[in-house]
Amino acid sequence: MRPQGSRSQLKCDPFGDTKAMNEARSRLIEAAKAVCGAFRLREDFSAGSVSAAILTAKGNIYTGICIDLACGLGFCAEVAAVAEMLKARETHVLAVVAVSNGGVLGAPCGRCRETIAQVDPQNLDCAVILGDGREVPLRDLLPEHWLAEQ
Ligand SMILES: [Zn+2]
Repeated sequence: MRPQGSRSQLKCDPFGDTKAMNEARSRLIEAAKAVCGAFRLREDFSAGSVSAAILTAKGNIYTGICIDLACGLGFCAEVAAVAEMLKARETHVLAVVAVSNGGVLGAPCGRCRETIAQVDPQNLDCAVILGDGREVPLRDLLPEHWLAEQ
């Protein structure tokens, strides 16, 4: 783990500290919370226990929910949100947030971090909103990333 002082700065800084940007951050979190909530599909299968929202460089917000199935099937909410974004032919993410049941913000898993980075290498500079109120660049969650060296 790198010392706190060596963390890279957010290059895009999609929210900053202004009132308008705080409202944009809140809108993104609220968009994720609005679609969060587990519901039963059948037996022990469910969907929606985690949701995610992505803010793109064009200013659009895309959301997604997770699907939890058996035999290793299903996918994370962030991947569903990325798919929604790609449907609109957008790839450049400025910020992403994931929310679990109860409205708890959490960090994307490694697969989701990698997915967001691979759809557009610029996304290594997107802000990941974490539960403790911090925003960190995706590249800090994917140190020594192979796309950053290309
Ligand atoms: Zn994930």
